[in-house]
Amino acid sequence: MKTDTKYTEIEKFKDALDSCTKCGFCMAGCPVYREEKKESSVARGKIMLIRALLDGEVEVTDEMAEQLNRCTLCMTCAQNCPAGTQVPTVITAARADKVKRRGVPFPYNIVFRWLLPRRRLFGWTIRLASWFQRIFLPKTEGTLRHLSFFLSALGKSRHIPQIAPKFLRESVPEVNKPPEGVKVKFTVGYFTGCMTDFVFPELGQKIISFLTKNGVEVIIPRGQGCCGALVFLGAGDFATGRKMADTNVKAFKDLDYIITDCATCASSMKDYVKFLADTEARKKAYTAYAGKIKDITEFLVDVVKLPASAYHVAPEFKGKTVTWHEPCHLGRYLGVKEQPRKILKSLKDIKFVEMPDADRCCGMAGTFSIYFYDLSQKIAEKKAESISSTGADIVVTDCPGCQIQLMDTLKRLKMPQEVRHIMELVE
Ligand code: SF4
Ligand code: SF4
Repeated sequence: MKTDTKYTEIEKFKDALDSCTKCGFCMAGCPVYREEKKESSVARGKIMLIRALLDGEVEVTDEMAEQLNRCTLCMTCAQNCPAGTQVPTVITAARADKVKRRGVPFPYNIVFRWLLPRRRLFGWTIRLASWFQRIFLPKTEGTLRHLSFFLSALGKSRHIPQIAPKFLRESVPEVNKPPEGVKVKFTVGYFTGCMTDFVFPELGQKIISFLTKNGVEVIIPRGQGCCGALVFLGAGDFATGRKMADTNVKAFKDLDYIITDCATCASSMKDYVKFLADTEARKKAYTAYAGKIKDITEFLVDVVKLPASAYHVAPEFKGKTVTWHEPCHLGRYLGVKEQPRKILKSLKDIKFVEMPDADRCCGMAGTFSIYFYDLSQKIAEKKAESISSTGADIVVTDCPGCQIQLMDTLKRLKMPQEVRHIMELVE
């Protein structure tokens, strides 16, 4: 493989790199630093490592590659930084330059380059894994099972939900119209994401049902693929990320709104333009695409403007105490903070309790929790303490990735709380 000798991606964000004054304020909230107490874990240390790379003082060694991966991209450092240094942006760029020099390691290169961009192949592969899981692996309590063979790279005895027997896109039509007598007020494209499609199809069905009953026609373009967050943000594979971005832009080109139930999908697709726009045509297309994306709670509250009376709690959750985990990609990246809380406060038959540090990272962060599962779980344990302190029966969130991380953590800690997507609560 031909290597690029310059750090072209880092160079694009050199101003951000230069803005760091080394004050150390970023230490306060960094979830990785809180666990490791090492300078190389915190934003300031990472900025110094990347600066040394750019100045030619060091090369991309294994240790350096690991330090670049050792970050959840939670953005807490950028939020606390008096100089406004966008460290997650610089780290993402550095990951891309690392991939240009060293490639994506096996077996991730197979998954990222060959499976994730090919929707049908990916679907069939995880279905095969699911069969293997059902036949050969022991059942654990509830609906969770131990890790399948295919996903064994994800961690040690990690609890993940079962792969759905029928994927969302196999169980709903491409065009979902409001029921008879309900006028169409909006037409949206639904970016279903991998988790909702393959693992939580009933969540997708619920969202479609809620939207159509409220006058929203829901299109699920069959040409859509994975958002690419794991690939370009997590692993730094911009070349594959670009192909995935182009696929999604093409699939949704005729639609005015793109809604998602996953904060990470929404935020990473808005980032196509920042990281992947290598031509003017792509810049234009990605900018237009980003402008259409809305998180589901943002869409319901800000665009459809549903009144509080439109939200009713599903019967199984009546009388429960509920707390809210705010995904990093929802609050810090998209700035969507009030909308989900507004929906939760509209649900009369539940008791909503804020947890301390609701916006603290849960430690999932895609590839981060694959590479550093133990560290990711230590970060998640702090979140579990917050959940426990509320006395809630249910913790809700707006990101299936966070949902899986919290399910795994609470199960491992033998905590009784259920973990749900916010839209599962709504009838
Ligand atoms: S990243 Fe920001 S908070 Fe951290 S040392 Fe640099 S200037 Fe200070
Ligand atoms: S993005 Fe989060 S994990 Fe990464 S350095 Fe900043 S605060 Fe730490």
